[in-house]
Amino acid sequence: MRKPFIAGNWKLQKTVGESLDLAAALKQETAGIDDIDIVIAPVYTSLTKVADLLVGSNISVAGQNCYPAASGAFTGEVSPALLKDAGCRYCIVGHSERRQLFAETDAFINQKSRALIDAGMGVIFCVGETLEERESDQMYDVLTTQVREGLKGISAEEMQNLVVAYEPVWAIGTGKTASDEQAEEAHAFIRGLLQGLYDENVAEATRILYGGSVKPDNVDGLMAQQDIDGTLVGGASLKAADFARIIHFKRG
Ligand code: PEP
Repeated sequence: MRKPFIAGNWKLQKTVGESLDLAAALKQETAGIDDIDIVIAPVYTSLTKVADLLVGSNISVAGQNCYPAASGAFTGEVSPALLKDAGCRYCIVGHSERRQLFAETDAFINQKSRALIDAGMGVIFCVGETLEERESDQMYDVLTTQVREGLKGISAEEMQNLVVAYEPVWAIGTGKTASDEQAEEAHAFIRGLLQGLYDENVAEATRILYGGSVKPDNVDGLMAQQDIDGTLVGGASLKAADFARIIHFKRG
């Protein structure tokens, strides 16, 4: 059994005060849950205060990005070790907004995954096809390249520190969710890729999250799918009640 993993990506939203309010509300709404990994990813400027507020709770904090160097002349960047120092346990890499808006390549995403694992951090590794790629039958090739290149050099043992998030780009922030069947098909495909790249044990143990307009009213159907082990949530993670409902998804 894979432990469900529910993560909220706050993107470029919320002041320190607003972040603390949301984190405090979530702490209350999720008190006592110990069979789900719950993660939130606030903006950099809120990380330490949110992490301090959540010490001793069942919610972990994640960075939304990092730079794959320990230190040096990299103006504006933040290293995995500094994220850890700020109280983060995980970091998101490969989000489609970083791939598209900041031209991040699979090779660069791979360096970030490597640097995070070396720093003792967990990785939330995102992949997903655009609408154009899906409609031109390139989806499987795109996912294969993103997974193969992004995970290059990550050992089977190190995969214990990584969750994959399948996020079809056309479903992110659009209100258009993949159907349960579309999502399951992609997840099963990614699990098959992991089996090919590693082995059955890694494929069975790795959690694969779905992301793309997950809401309180569609989470139950998605989470009922065999290969969907959690969700990465953008918009609906910004309201405590909605994110709490997603965390409290109905189990079949
Ligand atoms: C995301 O940013 O990872 C995401 C899935 O956003 P949304 O839930 O708003 O589609």
